Amino acid sequence: MTKSQPSSRPANQPAREALSFSTDVKFVKGVGERIAVALKERGVHTVEDLLYHLPFRYEDRLHPQHLRDLKPGEMASVIGEVRGSALIRARSMPIFELTVGQGLDSVKGIWFRGTYLQGKFKPGQMIALYGKVEASRSRPGAYKMIQPQFEMLPDANATGEDAEFAALEVGRIVPVYQSLGGTTAWGAKLGSKWLRRVLWGLLQEIKEAPESLPAQLRERLGLPGRIEALREVHFPSEGTSLDDLTFARTPALRRLVFEELFYLELGLELKRRRMRERNGIAFSTTPQVREALKQVLPFHPTRAQKRVLGEIVTDMKSPQPMRRLLQGDVGSGKTIVALEAAIVAIENGYQAALMAPTEILATQHYLSARKLLTKAIKENGDRRYRITLLTGSLDNAEKKAARGKIFRGETELVIGTHALLEEKVDFDRLGLIVVDEQHRFGVQQRFALMKKPGAADPDVLVMTATPIPRTLALTMYGDLDVSVLDELPPGRTPIVTRRVEEQQAAKVWEFVRKQVAEGRQAYIVYPLIEGPNDDQPELDFAHDEPKEEEAPKKGSKKKTGELFKVKLKSATEMYEQLGAGPLKGLRLGLLHGRLDAAEKEVIMARFQRGEIDVLLSTTVIEVGVDVPNSTVMVIEHAERFGLAQMHQLRGRVGRGSAKSYCILLTGAKVSPEADQRLDAMVRSQNGFELAEIDLEQRGPGEFFGTRQSGLPEFRVASLLRDRETLELAKKEAASFATNAEGTEEEKETVRRLLKQHWQRHYGLVEA
Ligand code: ADP
Ligand code: MG
Repeated sequence: MTKSQPSSRPANQPAREALSFSTDVKFVKGVGERIAVALKERGVHTVEDLLYHLPFRYEDRLHPQHLRDLKPGEMASVIGEVRGSALIRARSMPIFELTVGQGLDSVKGIWFRGTYLQGKFKPGQMIALYGKVEASRSRPGAYKMIQPQFEMLPDANATGEDAEFAALEVGRIVPVYQSLGGTTAWGAKLGSKWLRRVLWGLLQEIKEAPESLPAQLRERLGLPGRIEALREVHFPSEGTSLDDLTFARTPALRRLVFEELFYLELGLELKRRRMRERNGIAFSTTPQVREALKQVLPFHPTRAQKRVLGEIVTDMKSPQPMRRLLQGDVGSGKTIVALEAAIVAIENGYQAALMAPTEILATQHYLSARKLLTKAIKENGDRRYRITLLTGSLDNAEKKAARGKIFRGETELVIGTHALLEEKVDFDRLGLIVVDEQHRFGVQQRFALMKKPGAADPDVLVMTATPIPRTLALTMYGDLDVSVLDELPPGRTPIVTRRVEEQQAAKVWEFVRKQVAEGRQAYIVYPLIEGPNDDQPELDFAHDEPKEEEAPKKGSKKKTGELFKVKLKSATEMYEQLGAGPLKGLRLGLLHGRLDAAEKEVIMARFQRGEIDVLLSTTVIEVGVDVPNSTVMVIEHAERFGLAQMHQLRGRVGRGSAKSYCILLTGAKVSPEADQRLDAMVRSQNGFELAEIDLEQRGPGEFFGTRQSGLPEFRVASLLRDRETLELAKKEAASFATNAEGTEEEKETVRRLLKQHWQRHYGLVEA
C-alpha cells in the first residue's frame, strides 16, 4: 500500500538558507523562536539534536491488530473508531471511559481522574490506543486498556493539514516519540504527532549530513550513510519488520548505535594511548623488593593473585603510567594485592596512596595495613613503612599534621577516603594511587584524579568492589587495562544461602545464638536506621512509576512500583527489641551512617576484636569489611535490596574456614523482581553472573546505585540491547586508532566530530 507523501513545504514559502546539522533549531519549519525555547530546555538546540530525537517505539498501523486477537497482559496497539464515552465516578474518583470499536468488537480505554478528557472524542473518529490489555470484568470475553496512550487519527474525509500528513499517521509503521514539551506550556503540543510532521519536513529539506564514518568502514560493516539512516529510523520504509525496529536490528538503527558507541570507544582508546605516552615512573623490582613482598604475605597467594600482581608489576616497571582496573569478586583478596603494589612503590622510594569510599573502610584498610606491615616495620625499624590515615572526619589540627607529614615525606603509605582528593594534599613523591572505588567515581572524576600535577605521573590502580558486567566495564573503564581476580582463596566453603519468611524469624535468632555459642559472630543488616518514618533511608528504594505517556528513561528499565507503605524494621528499633528478647544476653553492637567516624571506628574495632557478638547495621558495612570470624549474615527486608548489594553483604561472611550462612529474611510482600533477585542469590555465588542479572533487572542507569554514576548518557545506544555492537565498536575503534581507514578528509572529519562529541556528551575537552 503506497500513500502519497506530504510535500515538505508550501510553494509560496520564501527560500531560506539551507539547513545544516548545526543550524539553530528555531529555523526548522514548524518550530520558530518560541517553541525553540521549550526545545532547548530539553537539550535540543540544533537541527542535529532534533534529528537524533529518535522514536522510542513504533506502531504498526499498516497491519493493526484485530480486537479479538488481543491477549490479556500484553502491550498492544489498536486502531478503531470512537463509539462513545462517559465520565463515571467510582468512590469519588472520576473515571473516563472510552469505547473504541472495530466492527462488532470493541475495547474500553479507561483513564483514572480523566475529567480532562471529556469532550475530546467524537463518535466516528479514528483513534489509536497503545497500552496493556486486561480482561474486562463486566463484559466477559471483552478487553479493556488502563490509561492507554492515544492518538487521534486523520480519517478519510480529513482536510487541510490533517489530510496532508495523513500518510505519516496511518497505513504505515509509525514512529512514537517522547514528547519534547516537558513541563512547559507546550507540553501537550510537542508530542509524537507534532514531531512526526516537523521531522518529516526537516528530512525532506535536508539533503546531506556530514558523514561521520569513513565510507570504507561503513561498507565493510554494511552500515548505511548517516542521513539515509536517520530517514529510515524516523520513517521506516514499507516492509521493515517491527521486531527489527524494536530490537534495533535494522541497518539504519545499527548504524546510529554503532556511530555513537564508536565515538565513545574511540575517545577512550585515544585517551588510553595518550596516557601511555606520558611520563610515568619506571619502578624496579630488585631482590630487595621481592624479599619485602614475601615478608608481608601471611599466606600463599592464589594463582589469580599471582597473575594479577604480575600484570600490575609489569605496568609499574614500565615508564608509562599504569592505568589499570582490578576487578574481583567479593572476598577474592584484592586488598593484599593493592598493598603489595604499594610496597613495590615504597621500596622504590616513593609514597603510595590508598583511597576507600567510606571512613569505615579506610580505617579498616589502615588497620590491616598496619597488621600486615608490622613485621616489616619491626625488622626495618620504623622508617620504611610509616602509615598515615587521613579522612574527612579528622579535626583540622590532625589534618594539618597529617598533611605536613605527607608533604615532608615523613610517611610512605597514606590511607584515606576520597576526601584525600579534596583535601589539597601535596605529596612529597607520590608514586602510586590505589582507588578502591565501589562504583562511586565517574569517568570525569577519575580523569581529574589522574591529572595530579607532578614531574612524573603516578601509577593508578582502580579496584571495584563487585564485578561489573562487561558492557558497563567497556563504557565506564574503556580507558583502563583490566585485571580480573577470578579465584577465591583456598579453604573457603561455599556460603549456605537461604530465604526465610519473617514469620520464621524466631528460628533464625535461635540459629544466631547457636553460632555465637560456638564462638562465631553475626551481622544483621537493615534497610533503615531508625523507625519506619525515617526520612533518610540509607538504601535508595524509591521506585517511581514512570508516567504513562513517557518513554522509559534512557538507560534505566521500567520499574514496577514497590511504593507501597509497609512498616520496615530499622536497625535502631531492632537493636532494642532483639536485645531485650530473642538475642538477650548476647553482646550486640549497632552501626549506622549517622554515627560519627570515631564512634563507628570504636564499634568496628570491637567487632573485629570479638568483643561484639552480633552487629546490627545498615548498609554501611556493605563494602569491604573483613572480620573472618563472622559466619552469619542476616539481611532483613531482603526484598528491598539490590542484587549487587546483597552479594556484597553476603561477602562479609565466608572469609574464614568455618562454614558460613546468609539468611535472607523477607517481608510479606515480595514483588516478582525481588523474587527473582532472591532466587538468584540462593542459586548463585558468582558475582559476575549476579552482576549480569542485576544489570538486566535494573538497567545500566541504576546498576551503579547512584545517579551520578559517571556512566555516559546515550542518545541512541542501549547497553542492554546493544552489547554486540559495543564489542564491535570497541574493536573498530582500536583498529581505527592504530591504522585509520578512509581518506585524509574523512579522518579529519572523524577527529573533528570526536572532539565535539566528547565535549558535548561527556563534558570533556580533548587535549
Ligand atoms: P576483597 O577485598 O577482594 O573482597 P579481601 O582482600 O578483603 O577481599 O580478602 C578477603 C579475605 O581473604 C581476607 O580475610 C584476606 O586476608 C583473605 N585472603 C586474601 N588472600 C588470601 C590468600 N591467598 N589465602 C588465604 N586468605 C587470603
Ligand atoms: Mg576489599
